[in-house]
This record gives sequence, structure tokens and C-alpha cells, in this order.
Amino acid sequence: MILSDIAAVPLSEIASLPRSVWMAVAAVLGLVFGSFITALSYRVPRGQSIAHGRSQCPACGTTLTARDLIPVFSWLIARGRCRVCQTAISIRYPLIELLTAAVFMSAVWREPRLLPLLLLLATAVLMMTLAITDLEHRRLPFPLLVPLAVLGTVYGVLIQPQLLAAAVTAASVVLAGLSVAALSRRFLGRPLIGAGDVYVLAIGALMLPWLAFVIFMGLAGLLALIFGLAWRRWNPDALFPFGPSVFAALWVTMVFQAPLTGFVS
Ligand SMILES: [Zn+2]
Repeated sequence: MILSDIAAVPLSEIASLPRSVWMAVAAVLGLVFGSFITALSYRVPRGQSIAHGRSQCPACGTTLTARDLIPVFSWLIARGRCRVCQTAISIRYPLIELLTAAVFMSAVWREPRLLPLLLLLATAVLMMTLAITDLEHRRLPFPLLVPLAVLGTVYGVLIQPQLLAAAVTAASVVLAGLSVAALSRRFLGRPLIGAGDVYVLAIGALMLPWLAFVIFMGLAGLLALIFGLAWRRWNPDALFPFGPSVFAALWVTMVFQAPLTGFVS
């Protein structure tokens, strides 16, 4: 089988289930991976291993067991508190789980081909972890960026009709973006864009057809403007994280690229 044949194998080859059943499977998987994303976004920026050590209550140190780790439901049943020390557990945990479920469902809705779908789901996990890490720590760690770049490239190789043009665009984005970052750091005293953000834009160039990529850049700018104004209002002194806007724009363009490019052209 050549590459395009492998990429074309549909999800229904695994089991011919109705789309609604696959959406339900995606929702459950999304909830589970939402907890994983929470753990990843906590451990990676702190340099902790993601494989070892059970999760603990950050307040009392009680090791969490299976019944504490059921996505959303554990939080609801315990009314958002640790069952041992009664410390409030942030609503961000169930929210991240629900958002991941929605993201996974949108991927299944968008992509009926098995391999591209799996790549999309894996990039979604990395993108959500990176977005949260950027929000909390103002950085996009390489241990998450590198796998995203690799998976994004494989996805591009599978689905891009004009791979060479996409690769040239991605390289140009890196060159231009890193130049803007270096020049602004030199002359303005602070970078207008972070190197990590530049790499994410370039990954977008690999994963999206050309017109969709242009829409993605515009949408990322628009979201950053809106989110930036809100950010400045609530956190006037903190550095604005660009990542969440870029990832949100990339995912929306990826999922809705057919209607979006149809609307523009
Ligand atoms: Zn506790």
C-alpha cells in the first residue's frame, strides 16, 4: 500500500458503527484524556516524569484512587472538594475534561479516515497541554513542542496535496517569525512573538492547505487581540500568552476548514 492508501482507510474499517456511536466513544476518550492533559500540564513544566507517581491531592497529599479520578463525575460527587481534607478542587479540572471531550468529538466529526484522525487526536492532546502550560507558565516547553511538530509533519505528509509548497511556507514562517522575535527583542527590549509561537504557526502551515492557513493566521490574530484586551484588563502586569489563541485558531480552522475556505473563495 502506498501512503495515500494508508491515509484513506476509513474509521469504519475497525467496526462499522454509526457516526453517533463514534462520537460517543470520542466523548468518553476525551474525558479520560482531559485528566491526562491536566496531569501533563502540571508535570512537564515542573520537569516531573509523566510515567511515574500517582496523582495526589495538592493540599493534603492523599494519593488519589480510581474513584477520585473518574473525569467530571468524581468532581461533581465530591462537590468540588478533596474527600479527605475538604480543600476546594479547582473547577478547571472538570472544565478541561469537558473541553477535551468536545475537541475529540469535533475531530471525529471532521475526519472519517482512521490514521489522520488518530494524528489529529494526538495533536489535540499536545495542543491543549501546551495552551494550558502557556497560560500558567508563559512558555511552550520543547518536550511538548517537538512531538507536536513531528505529528503535524506526518499529518501534513498524509493529507497535503501540495506538500512542497506547505514546507516552503512553514520554513518562511520560521525565518520571518524568528527574525521578528530577534529584532523586537533587540530594538524594543521585548520580543513581539515568542520562538515557541513561531514554531506553532509553522506547524499550522504544514497541517493546513494554503487558503486555510491564511484564515488560521487571521483568526489567530483576531483571537489574540480579543483575548489580549481581556487579559490586559484582568492581569495588567502579567505577560500576555499568545499560545492559547494560536491553538484555538488552529483547531477551529482545522475542523471547519471546508466551510471556512468555501466562505472565503
Ligand atoms: Zn486533600
